[in-house]
Amino acid sequence: MPESITKNLFKLSIKLPDLEIGSLNAYLLTLSDKNILIDTGSPSYGSISSLVEDLEDLGMKISEINEVIITHFHIDHIGLAYLLSKLANVKIIIGNVEYNFIKRFKYRYDEMIKILKLNGASQQLLNIAFDFTSGFRANIYSRVGELNNIEIVNNNQSLYNLRFLFTPGHTIGHMCIYDEENKLLLSGDTLLADITPNISLYEENSNPLSDYLKSLMKISSFEVKKSLSAHGRIIENTKERIRELIRHHEERLNEILEVMGNSGLTAYEIATKIKWKLKYDGWDELDPSQQYLAMGETLAHLKYLENINAVRTMISDGIIKYVKQKENVKISL
Ligand SMILES: [Zn+2]
Repeated sequence: MPESITKNLFKLSIKLPDLEIGSLNAYLLTLSDKNILIDTGSPSYGSISSLVEDLEDLGMKISEINEVIITHFHIDHIGLAYLLSKLANVKIIIGNVEYNFIKRFKYRYDEMIKILKLNGASQQLLNIAFDFTSGFRANIYSRVGELNNIEIVNNNQSLYNLRFLFTPGHTIGHMCIYDEENKLLLSGDTLLADITPNISLYEENSNPLSDYLKSLMKISSFEVKKSLSAHGRIIENTKERIRELIRHHEERLNEILEVMGNSGLTAYEIATKIKWKLKYDGWDELDPSQQYLAMGETLAHLKYLENINAVRTMISDGIIKYVKQKENVKISL
């Protein structure tokens, strides 16, 4: 059953049967002349049927959706965009950075394999990288990139009563959507109440954790009564959640320095030593897709540490090893 947030904004609960996270909060904005869906669900029967059912509860059909705004390219957010565009002539609205990322997604597999090999990843991780960066998912992303009925928006651009705030970190072109009138932030996966958003390295010469922390500070500068996140509970105290997320990353940075010891380790070796907030006893028990996300997190944190000279890298036999230069760090923003 959809939850009413304001008189014309509703939270829909879209099932994600094929993904660990289980469900997505999509949002429906009804204006006098159009209906706008924010994020879609995955390309799955569960997502489609729950979207149909939630709309039905509001007395609406899929064919009455006019536009879809995508917060970021991940499969649970963009997954039905192509279908909705083709079947119901829905216009897709996406940020320019994310759009350009999708456009070059076909190179992503090679880039990711290069990063993983350089960082000493296991064969299992190299295999799972295919699922994340090629095949079925890549095909879904590429198709969105080829749509004609698409509007590319820029940072700070306003549409209707909404303002697009680019908040890179979770993905390089993630955008939040700010409803200034109601002081609501549709925060996508940048702010989540129950889990910490995954921050992974997407491209070799990037610093996604630094981008993410800057995005959190940017959000802090807005007056936000509620953050309507894309998964889990609505966030009632945005500033407090931001503080918790910064604290979490500071703890993770220090945990990495602690597990590194004094000899050089690969990012993969470091990833296996971190205490991930998952139910497991040892690294080998983790599902390969969890290992893949954990490896991405480790790399993002190591890049951050490298940029503040808390670790340095050395290359031996074509593999990067990290050596610590500081015992502990503090995030200063
Ligand atoms: Zn998501």
